[in-house]
Amino acid sequence: MQAEIIAIGDEILIGQTIDTNSAFIASQLSSNGIVVKQKRVIADEKDAITEALDGVLPDTDLVFMTGGLGPTKDDITKSTLTTYFGGELEFHEDVYERIVDLFKTFNRVPSEVNRSQAYLPTSCAIVPNDIGTASGMRFQKNNTYFFSLPGVPYETEYLVEKKIMPWINQVLRKGKAVHKNILTQGVPESDLAQMLEGWENELPAEIKLAYLPSPGMVKLRLSSYDLESDEASSLIDAEIDKMKSLLGEIIFGESAESLQEVIGILLKRKGVTVATAESCTGGYLAHLITSIAGSSEYYKGSILSYSNEAKMKLLGVKKEDLLNYGAVSKEVIEQMAIQARHELDTDFAIATSGVAGPGGGSYEKPVGTVWIAVAGPNGIKSKKFHFGKDRLRNIKKSALMALDMLRREIQKIN
Ligand code: ATP
Ligand code: MG
Repeated sequence: MQAEIIAIGDEILIGQTIDTNSAFIASQLSSNGIVVKQKRVIADEKDAITEALDGVLPDTDLVFMTGGLGPTKDDITKSTLTTYFGGELEFHEDVYERIVDLFKTFNRVPSEVNRSQAYLPTSCAIVPNDIGTASGMRFQKNNTYFFSLPGVPYETEYLVEKKIMPWINQVLRKGKAVHKNILTQGVPESDLAQMLEGWENELPAEIKLAYLPSPGMVKLRLSSYDLESDEASSLIDAEIDKMKSLLGEIIFGESAESLQEVIGILLKRKGVTVATAESCTGGYLAHLITSIAGSSEYYKGSILSYSNEAKMKLLGVKKEDLLNYGAVSKEVIEQMAIQARHELDTDFAIATSGVAGPGGGSYEKPVGTVWIAVAGPNGIKSKKFHFGKDRLRNIKKSALMALDMLRREIQKIN
């Protein structure tokens, strides 16, 4: 499928507003395997809109327009679309009720101008906007669908992600979209791309690969949009096998959504338990683990020992080690993990201690220095990391690295 995007708005043309809508829509489309052929920015004017519609490329299946639907300009945009696609403007009671309800939540009553937003062309199918006053509209001309969406970024994002993409996948593609995820950890996206380059070049044209990075992990998604689902599944499975032989241990999960979910599956399968001792992650690690339903089967609890005092009192870390080596050290992190495992009587325990930033760094231990340890049936394993300068990213990365170290240790036991 091919798409185009038209951003309508004088404010974008003069550089006052950055056209984030087009970027958002383009990324949604391409991650759904739809090729974006053209992006344009045009004025809030009848002629500009008509010319833009006339300029849609011949093979385009989908056209996304945003903007020009705020209460001051929507008469131009809507009347232009009505002239172009036919029909007339018609009042929609249900749309108006939605606007009234929305205003109620702000303790306000809609003005006459807001009421005009309930007039929509008879030639369109309404894409209901639950979070704003301007409705989305869908028109069809020959084999091309046109969407006209409000300019407010979060409304457009909502309509595209929650309403329009599902509609395209269900109705136009007849629910044929098949996705499979491979989760990887510990290797940056650019290195993964290099490792996969040869394989990616040989990928069948019907299969699309997407790199979906988030702090500490990269999800690789293989998708097929237009094949029958059985055929798609077996084609994708064959490619996943090749990918596995290229990436090996870097892959930590399939068909799961997150590392914490994979950890849960592994711990349950092996019938073992885990505890945490957290310093720099401040409970985030515990939060990730307990966000998985059923985690009570394998997670016993956390000792949140943020201060040195807590490390001594709750985990029995030796005072001289804290003084000699500091809280962010191999000596201390190993005691934290070993002691948490002992106190909570689990098979495994993970500990984190680091300088999350922005303050607290030193020449020897700059911001982003983090020690992580895993204590388990095979002894203690600890490792030092250097993450970046951003506090929240450091917390997230530390927690994910800790989970990944745990994953590797669990996989070693029978
Ligand atoms: P009107 O078009 O009636 O003058 P408006 O410009 O406020 O009103 P929209 O064009 O729907 O109405 O835009 C609403 C808001 O969204 C504005 O703040 C606008 O700057 C912003 N906006 C519009 N188009 C985009 C875009 N392509 N990317 C990011 N923001 C946008
Ligand atoms: Mg505008």
